[in-house]
Amino acid sequence: MAGKLSLEETIRKYTLKNAVDYKLAIPGKVVGKVIGEFPDAKNDMKATMKLLNEEAKRVNALTHEQAQAEMKEFEYEEKKEEKKELELPNAVQGHVLTRFPPEPSGYPHIGHAKAAWLDCQSAANHGGKMLLRFDDTNPEKEKQEYVDAIKEGLTWLGVEWSGESYTSDRMDDFYTSCDEMFVKYKAYVCTCTAEQVKKGREEKKACDCTVREPQENMSLFRKMREGKMVGGSAVVRFRGDMHSDNTVMRDPTLFRIITAPHYRQGDKYKCWPSYDFVAPIMDSTEGITHAMRTKEYELRNELYFAILKILELRPPQLIEFSRLSIKGAPISKRLITPLIEQKKVEGWDDPRLPTLKALARKGILPEAVKSFVLSFGLTKVESEPNWGALLAENRKILDERCMRRYFARSPAKLMVEGAPGKEVEVPNHPKNAGMGKRKMATASEFWIAGTDAEALSVGETFRLKELYNLVVTEKADGMVRAKYDADEGLAAKKIQWVPLESAVACKVKIAGDLLDEAGNFRENSLSEDAGFCEISCRELALGDIVQFERYGYARMDKKEEHGLVFIFSC
Ligand code: ATP
Ligand code: MG
Repeated sequence: MAGKLSLEETIRKYTLKNAVDYKLAIPGKVVGKVIGEFPDAKNDMKATMKLLNEEAKRVNALTHEQAQAEMKEFEYEEKKEEKKELELPNAVQGHVLTRFPPEPSGYPHIGHAKAAWLDCQSAANHGGKMLLRFDDTNPEKEKQEYVDAIKEGLTWLGVEWSGESYTSDRMDDFYTSCDEMFVKYKAYVCTCTAEQVKKGREEKKACDCTVREPQENMSLFRKMREGKMVGGSAVVRFRGDMHSDNTVMRDPTLFRIITAPHYRQGDKYKCWPSYDFVAPIMDSTEGITHAMRTKEYELRNELYFAILKILELRPPQLIEFSRLSIKGAPISKRLITPLIEQKKVEGWDDPRLPTLKALARKGILPEAVKSFVLSFGLTKVESEPNWGALLAENRKILDERCMRRYFARSPAKLMVEGAPGKEVEVPNHPKNAGMGKRKMATASEFWIAGTDAEALSVGETFRLKELYNLVVTEKADGMVRAKYDADEGLAAKKIQWVPLESAVACKVKIAGDLLDEAGNFRENSLSEDAGFCEISCRELALGDIVQFERYGYARMDKKEEHGLVFIFSC
């Protein structure tokens, strides 16, 4: 239903929602919403309440499915995103431009999700936009595969960008800017060895190269670009202050010779700029108003602004935020890449990794990632969160959406005497009848979870959930015998079951912390539960997430000949 609703329609809209959400519509819970949209309805509360009461009566007589069907006529607003400390200093509403600048040197991880969401959401909160910039000036590390993975990751997250750029497309501009620096005596070509440069910085001593005149610098720089000098024989350095307390300012490197081909530019360029040189130029010339980066860059701010001043470029507002780090997780490409190269993990989507691909494979939803990373706000406050809050958020969302299934982990056999074979219909969700039921046929043998079997004692009455009550008559190794007691009636214990005849072999892989306290790889970080799940799990598609009752949520990862493989989610 589009356009402005009438008072009656508005009452109907929210009464239906109240009924569907809470099983029973209560006019007192709906009235606030209605008055929010129809302030005038307050003037005659008696009449308004009368309408509300009548509508509640009508709606409460509907079945859940009928009410849900009627709800489809209306559009319901999603809950407003919490805006947490995403205030940008000196922001002009509608004129904010931020950027997310990943280097395409690996797959995106949850740390990138934090940066990207902060960039995207803070811009959106100020009516602004975000650019996606691939910071790709290190040919040795970058690949098109990673560009694609980053875009895919952002799309999965729900991050939107209004434009896309590549730092490497601007190489000729950087060369021109470098010549400008030479002319202004603010840069020089340094032909010292790396060792000498390092020593000079430590001893706060300038080298002889600093005296080179602009012409000589420009001609050496040309040779560097033309591949007439070998890698390591020369770099361009910023003329800073070798006595500065800020070590970053002790004549940092602006360009170095790298002859490896670039994934996007081929072998067109042999001399590549440093992050320190390109970041301020890109931010300024792309019109970025607010440039955010993680706190460890703070010492580089002085250099950032110095370069802009020399080149007479507009300085953006720089903002720092804290890096996301989680105990036991390598939230950095620098840490993840070696694990991949040494084949200690399966690949970028190994469920133990904090990459977006791994999180998705584990059934972590992008909505949960978003609210988790934004919960830290745009602050420099360091915290070491654990996965708990993310998993709790994920569970909350999955709870409503996921079908329930039975899974007997490390199973024990249950033999029942005196019960007829039955076909029962078990609800897919305890609160949402709209999610339907599945049929299960039983005979006299079942699988139950090993821990449930252990906890039973002879003479005890228990219930097979949705089926019948039994009394334990005998217990032996990995086996329980019980006799039929009653179809209905209370039993203290309710346990899940899988009919033996139709049981499907099932494995659930569980990702533990990848790193130990000292940051070393934990060999046994991936474990596995095995058992049987019910036959209806065969109908699940890859990627479906179910709740194995009294076990947890799991996402279907693979269908193998001998059974199903899930990954534990939360
Ligand atoms: P990595 O160590 O993973 O290589 P990086 O900072 O070099 O990290 P980039 O691809 O250059 O990775 O990062 C793109 C953006 O994501 C940067 O703004 C960076 O600060 C941010 N970022 C990277 N890791 C994290 C993290 N753990 N927490 C928050 N932001 C991060
Ligand atoms: Mg990096």
